[in-house]
Amino acid sequence: MIDVLLKKGKEKAVLQRHPWVFSGAIEKVKGNPANGEIVRLVNAQGAFMAYGFYNNQSRVAVRLLEWDESVAVNDDWFRNKVRIAVAGRAHILASGETDTCRLIFSEADYLPGLIADKYADHLALQVLTSGIQNALPVIIDELQQLLSPLSIYDKSDATSRAHEGLETTNTLLAGTPPPELVMVKENGITYGINIAEGQKSGFYCDQRDNRRLLASYSKGKKVLDCFSYTGGFTLNSLREGAASVTSVDSSALAIETLNENINLNNFNNTEHIAIKSDVNSQLRKFREEGDKFDVIVLDPPKYAPSRSALDRASRAYKDLNRIGMQLLNSGGLLATFSCSGAMDMETFKQVLAWAALDAGKQVQFIYQFHQPEDHPVRSSFPEGEYLKGLLCRVW
Ligand code: SAH
Repeated sequence: MIDVLLKKGKEKAVLQRHPWVFSGAIEKVKGNPANGEIVRLVNAQGAFMAYGFYNNQSRVAVRLLEWDESVAVNDDWFRNKVRIAVAGRAHILASGETDTCRLIFSEADYLPGLIADKYADHLALQVLTSGIQNALPVIIDELQQLLSPLSIYDKSDATSRAHEGLETTNTLLAGTPPPELVMVKENGITYGINIAEGQKSGFYCDQRDNRRLLASYSKGKKVLDCFSYTGGFTLNSLREGAASVTSVDSSALAIETLNENINLNNFNNTEHIAIKSDVNSQLRKFREEGDKFDVIVLDPPKYAPSRSALDRASRAYKDLNRIGMQLLNSGGLLATFSCSGAMDMETFKQVLAWAALDAGKQVQFIYQFHQPEDHPVRSSFPEGEYLKGLLCRVW
């Protein structure tokens, strides 16, 4: 196995079990490892520190896997990590209300660059590192043994793959091709998931608990679901007896699937409209028309892909939330989210405080939303905490 030498003074993060070693922290590579090959990370004195995946094209040159020198990172090691991750989701699936969740969440499940989402009897993977790409046959075999899925689909059309020198893929890995819409259940609601053409791996299962909680405030209310995608918040609110729901998303496919989802659940009795539009212009239109709501959801895409983008993103979040607040009836509720890892909860609260001042509103934070249990955060990898939200009462 090839040794990768760490620069002097760069041991701290590795000792604290942070799983990333940046290329700038590397003194020397003793040999010529292929991308994705497993290497030994050693300190300046040559002492073993950890095993990890090597990649010479990525900013993260080594992704650390194992800190115990006596434990071999072999097929069994990968099988074991997959088994532990899958077993950890049993609690979510046990109630029978939900048959879709994230089974494997990358670094948080000790498998850097592997995401596996379960959609009823189908699995969708995202393979974002060359190391995981190499281990894929074993991982697929273990998933088949554990779950006997009808299909395993590779939905790795992510730009992050390019950082590792990998091609974008959107292809069937095992089983028979999934139907165009795979039927899943979440919180007892049925959704059709388009794995091949939908966003990410098809669905945002990270909002499962937040959808349920928000819906519990929706009975008899006039609800506006912005950035609705295929209707997660919309459908939960309809089921809980909202007086009306308006959904807004710029994606035609999302709106089409949302309407199909409403039909699938026979939620046609409540007043509902889905608008294909840019949220920013649609909110301004509502303001001009004097339209007001009792409950508004703002779940935008990631505005801050990195720390350097945080200032600009903060202004965008502030602007969005200011208008959202102005569209609420007095005492109404704003459920506002950020899925930018670079934006922490404290900063997000500050952004909301600025938005309230600009809107001329008073705001009470009544609940803090987080990512759910199938998106764990590893104590040595705070970067894995990305989804946060605030339920705000606005006067
Ligand atoms: N709330 C959704 C997930 C939202 S993901 C759920 O519970 O499933 C973000 C969504 O924002 C995507 O569906 C994307 O199509 C949409 N989007 C991105 N930019 C937008 C814009 N400017 N206006 C409207 N929708 C936008």
